[in-house]
Amino acid sequence: MFIIISGPSGSGKTPLLYRMMEIYPNIKKIQSYTTRQSRKTEVRGTYVYMTKAQFEQKIKENFFLEFNKVHKDQEYYGTGRASYEKVIKNGQVAIKDIDVDSYKMIKQNKDLDIVGIYVTVKRRSVLFDRLRERGESERTIRLRLFDRVDYENKQSCFYDYVVYTDKFENASNELEKIIDKEFKKRGIVVKKNEKREFTRPLF
Ligand code: 5GP
Repeated sequence: MFIIISGPSGSGKTPLLYRMMEIYPNIKKIQSYTTRQSRKTEVRGTYVYMTKAQFEQKIKENFFLEFNKVHKDQEYYGTGRASYEKVIKNGQVAIKDIDVDSYKMIKQNKDLDIVGIYVTVKRRSVLFDRLRERGESERTIRLRLFDRVDYENKQSCFYDYVVYTDKFENASNELEKIIDKEFKKRGIVVKKNEKREFTRPLF
């Protein structure tokens, strides 16, 4: 099973994903590769950073399960094929966030057992506030939100579930229920972590 989370910048994809990994010991994050600059607030290990030349070389070597140029700043983002396959071979569940266009493409691959979750907010101002809190420049906020959010939200119909993250705790509980349901369908049994120590920042 491969859980893919998408949603606008600031919708809370990353904290939700980490929280699910804290709850379910069998869920493993597949790391993304990117050519974008790292952020000051970014926790180590969020991405593997590389130059455009390195990324393009890896494309030629068929290194990526999927990749795309995302946002107007046109940086590359991609999923390493080997890290995905390792998780699945170990009988674990893969999780990661990818952009909406890549999701639509990869979802068509019937060899992959994908559960698509779209996360967004009801009140758009929440996104602006979160990105400002995260220390993003006004230019980046404009690039990431103004044209993108409407487009991205329109793609939510391609996902199996939509989760609203205006209230993070509700979103987290809802996502947990979804995962429980999907595990049950597939006969996946796991002992959930009841003593949850959520150490990561929410946004
Ligand atoms: P950010 O720069 O805000 O961390 O991510 C920008 C966008 O890239 C988000 O929509 C995120 O979901 C997407 N993204 C992150 N990793 C990957 C990846 O490995 N592949 C693809 N296609 N998109 C990714």
